Amino acid sequence: GSYESVALVVGVTGIVGSSLAQVLKLPGTPGGPWKVYGIARRPCPGWLAKFGVEYIQCDVSNTEEAKTKLSPLNDVTHIFYVSWIGSEDCETNAVMFQNILDNVIPVAKNLKHISLQTGSKHYFGVFEEGSGVEPHDSPFTEDLPRLNVPNFYHDLEDILYEETSKHGLTWCVQRPALIFGFSPCSLMNIVSTLSIYATICKHEKKPLVYPGSKASWNCYVDGADADLAAEHHIWAAVDPKAKNQVFNCKNGDVFKWKHVWKLLADEFELEMVGYIEGNEQVSMAELMKDKDAVWDEIVKTHKLEATKLKEIAAFWFADIAFSCVDLVMSMTKSREYGFLGFRDSMKSFKSCIHKMRSYKFIP
Ligand code: NDP
Repeated sequence: GSYESVALVVGVTGIVGSSLAQVLKLPGTPGGPWKVYGIARRPCPGWLAKFGVEYIQCDVSNTEEAKTKLSPLNDVTHIFYVSWIGSEDCETNAVMFQNILDNVIPVAKNLKHISLQTGSKHYFGVFEEGSGVEPHDSPFTEDLPRLNVPNFYHDLEDILYEETSKHGLTWCVQRPALIFGFSPCSLMNIVSTLSIYATICKHEKKPLVYPGSKASWNCYVDGADADLAAEHHIWAAVDPKAKNQVFNCKNGDVFKWKHVWKLLADEFELEMVGYIEGNEQVSMAELMKDKDAVWDEIVKTHKLEATKLKEIAAFWFADIAFSCVDLVMSMTKSREYGFLGFRDSMKSFKSCIHKMRSYKFIP
């Protein structure tokens, strides 16, 4: 055909998957023009249908279904794996990735490269409490050894290393920081989570209070714009100098939650309170646990795309973000290898709010 490259984006409705779908289809994108296959379980959402992706509805944790749906994909040249099952269960996450590779590698004779997205949990451990593992000291660099705790990232990396070496393919492991994106189908979208928190505060005529810890309010945080993460995946996929490496991925600056709070107060026209001196962290998941009907009401009033609160907001994830300190990563290795992309974190956060608004995901 007339395509230079053919991408398979696993997790195409997700936070980086949806950005990959958009960025791959841009006229100037390296390696292009790209044909893009995208996989997720749900039927293709209306907003994604406009991106020009060949959508494949498939539960890749189901080995039989994966076989049926994936074996026709014989023109794939690059796999971008930007998915997880939504729990840290090592076995299910490993089966999903293995099912992709077992069914695509044998049929895709021009397959060259596999890009795997994991994340900064590689350096500080898993979300599940009680693992008791001591995190690495930050700033995190790619050469730090694995922590001695079960982490599905290790399983995914092992599958990647084994399959690419067996079949002579190139690979990349990308470890992004906290991702800023626009997808309403992500299990962990901090921009939508905080935008919805702000929207509910506004609806209830309450000021914007910061429920997190004092330390998290004051410390430096790393963000990774989802479009930047997509550009970084594509860079590592097409630049010969970047092959077979692990790379951190982040905006390049740092930000503070107090600055995000000011931005949220401005964007949603709320009275800014922020962190209240002396307060212990209060769980946002707890604060928001009875708000499903409030969100339904907001969706109706503002004629938004139909979403459920538990799908579009991950308050548990904000609770983790607002209890963390010092999780800063180094971006030096990517730069040394030639990736010079960056984002202004505050502009990135704001542009994701605006994008979500323009798609009518939030008021
Ligand atoms: P998202 O939660 O945004 O997206 C997951 C995608 O996978 C969705 O498209 C989902 O679609 C799809 N999916 C899930 N299960 C299946 C399945 N069984 N079969 C087919 N498709 C499936 O993912 P993220 O980008 O957040 O996560 C990818 C990796 O990035 C994870 O390892 C995560 O830990 C890491 N990461 C995430 C960060 C963040 O801020 N979000 C930060 C740093 C790292 P559907 O539901 O329709 O199936």
